[in-house]
Amino acid sequence: MTTIKNEGSPRVLFAAFEAVPFAKTGGLGDVAGSLPKTLVQNGADVRVIMPKLQDIPEKYKKQMTHVADFYFYLAWRNLYCGIETLELNGVTFYFIDNEYYFKRSGVYGFGDDSERAAFFAKAVLESLRYLDFCPQIIHCNDWHTSLIPSFLKIFYQDCIMGSALADELPANDENGKPYDRAYRSLRTVFTVHNLKFQGVFSPYLAIDTLGFNMEEADSCGLMHNNAINFMRGALCLSDRLTTVSPTYAGEICTDFYGEDCQDIFRYRNGVLSGIMNGIDTSVLDPETDPNLPAHYSIDDPEHIFPEKGKVKAALQERLGLEVNPDKPIYAIISRLTDQKGLDLVLGIIDEFMQLDVQFVVLGVGEHKYEEKFRQMGEFMPSKFAAALYFDEGLSRMIYAGADFILVPSLFEPCGLTQITAMRYGSLPIVRETGGLKDSVIPYNRFDGSGTGFSFANYNAHELLFKMKDALDLYTNDRVAFNQLILQAMAVDYSWNASAAKYAELYKELI
Ligand code: ADP
Repeated sequence: MTTIKNEGSPRVLFAAFEAVPFAKTGGLGDVAGSLPKTLVQNGADVRVIMPKLQDIPEKYKKQMTHVADFYFYLAWRNLYCGIETLELNGVTFYFIDNEYYFKRSGVYGFGDDSERAAFFAKAVLESLRYLDFCPQIIHCNDWHTSLIPSFLKIFYQDCIMGSALADELPANDENGKPYDRAYRSLRTVFTVHNLKFQGVFSPYLAIDTLGFNMEEADSCGLMHNNAINFMRGALCLSDRLTTVSPTYAGEICTDFYGEDCQDIFRYRNGVLSGIMNGIDTSVLDPETDPNLPAHYSIDDPEHIFPEKGKVKAALQERLGLEVNPDKPIYAIISRLTDQKGLDLVLGIIDEFMQLDVQFVVLGVGEHKYEEKFRQMGEFMPSKFAAALYFDEGLSRMIYAGADFILVPSLFEPCGLTQITAMRYGSLPIVRETGGLKDSVIPYNRFDGSGTGFSFANYNAHELLFKMKDALDLYTNDRVAFNQLILQAMAVDYSWNASAAKYAELYKELI
């Protein structure tokens, strides 16, 4: 039987390929896990739809119940689609089941990712005929879901959804209006989390996989530079475009940051907005984090520094560094890729390590970075630790135990690292770009304001000078340094403010 939650708020289906705690490869997984949760807590009717991936932990798979199964055509392929559901933290999740596409280890990176994304997009739209939920808005995220607006336009605009459950749906919605089950009135929001990956494929895919002819593909804006570009369809057709910080929303309209989509962002600037990501502060909490050997909270400032000191000592011990409270620890927790500004770090690291400091790297990525950091760790093991793997628990120890976290990115749509650092009381040193610029208030030594350190230009020595400024504060004015930490920890990093902005945007659409 259809349930109607949260009277009066828009009904939103949030489509993503990953969502915490079911699957995560990056920031999108965090957002899809925590934004809908906050929206629902604040009274919205938002449900999430994602693939039933093999790697979803067994304990969640066991809780899923079957909603429907059916077949649909994707171009010439007649494909099975199952829908399963479960509720977690008040949020209803729907899982699209097809073992051929999703029973594999991993989320992305397969030779047929284009077909998997096309299948998922069409499955989301087909599922609206079977769900006990009649969304007014589909909120799509990144290129894997970006075909939804194109399919909607070409295949569904004149169809009726919810027909399978028509008898069960009440005649009117919670406002007394008749349910509008027409796909035609469905609105779409598309959020760019990562503009680097747009889903660019051979044009032959249009006919073979999507079932479009060239004119149809062109009418959706999918054709670009003799290729088919999934994301451009969503950028052209979605009713609203968002990205994950206000500064980045401006930057992607420029040639430097626009990744060849700046023309669309400029043209559609009126529907583009930047909404800063939050973090799940119930999980990322130094007061309760089970990964930490000692705990502290901004609500009890007196105990912060003694307890953080214990974490620092445990971190130094664990990584084989000299255990010494007076050595400042600079850290990187990152994918080791060019985006993250690591060539700047390589440019100055030898010079910087001549100072009386310690350095920690936790990351996996490109060989040139891993190799240099490994060498540094071998060359000076009491000062430099290279942990070249993925370890969530260790990352929390570093956020809590380090003094400074470096994020000198070339571009950064939002960035969770600097936000998590401030939440745990380590000071970010960032380049002023995207979400880094929006979230870190640079230290002002005249009035003591700020929550971290920042520099403007993509220049290795600007980074070095800022790292030295930070060292100067740490060494010569511990009172001001500690005060800066308290200021960083006191900021509200939860989703509440941003979720309210999404709720507002949804309301404007219906
Ligand atoms: P991106 O999504 O571009 O990788 P973000 O800053 O948005 O960057 O998110 C990165 C997240 O991944 C952060 O929460 C960071 O702590 C985490 N992370 C990155 N590398 C590692 C690692 N090697 N081990 C543990 N966590 C990591």
